[in-house]
Amino acid sequence: MTDEMAGMGAPSVKSNDGLATAKATVDLDVICRNVEVLRERAGSAAVMAIVKADAYGHGLLPSALAALRGGASWLGVAQLGEAMTLRESGIQAPLLSWLHVPGADFAGAICADIDLSVSAPWSLGEVAEAARGLGRTARIHLKVDTGLGRNGAFGDDWQVLLSAARSLEAEGLVRIVGVMSHFAYADEPSHPTVRRQLEVFSEAVSAAERAGCDLEVRHIANSAAVLTNSGAAFDLVRPGLAVYGLSPVPQLGDPQSFGLTPAMTLSADLAVTKRMPAGQGLSYGHQYVTSQDTTVGVVPMGYADGIPRNATNVGPVSVSGERYTVSGRVCMDQFVIDLGPASSARAGERVTLFGTGEAGDPTAQDWAQATETISYEIVTRIGSRVPRVYIGG
Ligand SMILES: *Cc1c(COP(=O)(O)O)cnc(C)c1O
Repeated sequence: MTDEMAGMGAPSVKSNDGLATAKATVDLDVICRNVEVLRERAGSAAVMAIVKADAYGHGLLPSALAALRGGASWLGVAQLGEAMTLRESGIQAPLLSWLHVPGADFAGAICADIDLSVSAPWSLGEVAEAARGLGRTARIHLKVDTGLGRNGAFGDDWQVLLSAARSLEAEGLVRIVGVMSHFAYADEPSHPTVRRQLEVFSEAVSAAERAGCDLEVRHIANSAAVLTNSGAAFDLVRPGLAVYGLSPVPQLGDPQSFGLTPAMTLSADLAVTKRMPAGQGLSYGHQYVTSQDTTVGVVPMGYADGIPRNATNVGPVSVSGERYTVSGRVCMDQFVIDLGPASSARAGERVTLFGTGEAGDPTAQDWAQATETISYEIVTRIGSRVPRVYIGG
């Protein structure tokens, strides 16, 4: 290796995207339209498009730009690194990051104008110290645990966090911009915890206001709440999954019933097709055995690309508008489909794993159902080996 090559670091797969055997096509106009739909749903509340986890696998920056084009006025991420990447890419929209650990680079975040969620005394302290060091004021959203039982100040801790934050606000170290929370059962809108959490949230907001906070935003609603519970919108809603056109409440409606369209289509080209006799086992462990003389096709995607291994014998695909099922084990890089005796499919033919669901294609929700998970996991787990190809925008 030459010194020059060494200086380039690890070879980037990205530059070889054209050589990939599969792709995730992301329609940015669809993301934009989905956000327009969510804006309408949110009424007078503003929309914070959640773009954590590489925008649910759709690609952070292109998705963020599409969401802003659709009228999102905020962006939200879980981790500071994601927020910093957006800022380094030139995104200037209000930006919130909410999941931190001690020692996080709060100074970097404050300098980059990133709003910080604060759930606990330690983070309030570290954020205030960072602000003091910089001679600046940190913008914070206090997080209250209204019953999710995860992050946020719970019970009496809320008042303690509030008082401490107000003292630091008086010193000019923080500005309490928002109060936020998160639902445990947003996907079951009539679950009693939903109403209870809204009550606790309203009380927590009132306590903040009584303590003298001049809040810009109060926010608790994720996608499911935006789509099913207009009383949860407050000033700002935080949809993630719905931005990408998937339904967080599949039991209540598919994306189309909410006016949403899935933005990602996952496809691959058949690597091989061949005739196989009846009684032949396919793939590792012969978990599928042909019942007749047939044509099989090899799909060049596997669990290393995020195809769940438990899609073995159940994952749906389509070829030329016909539905098939993963036949035999999903391997690291490939799986096989039994195309049936009459198939004329050839190597190079397009296999759609999931897409909008139009034209009979399977959807991410179909994959979620087949593999006993949620569509969130199906799209976020698509591997880095699969190039994201953008259309629209
Ligand atoms: C992920 C997340 C969201 C978005 O959730 P969806 O169900 O994808 O809409 C909103 N708020 C917080 C705190 C989250 O962690």
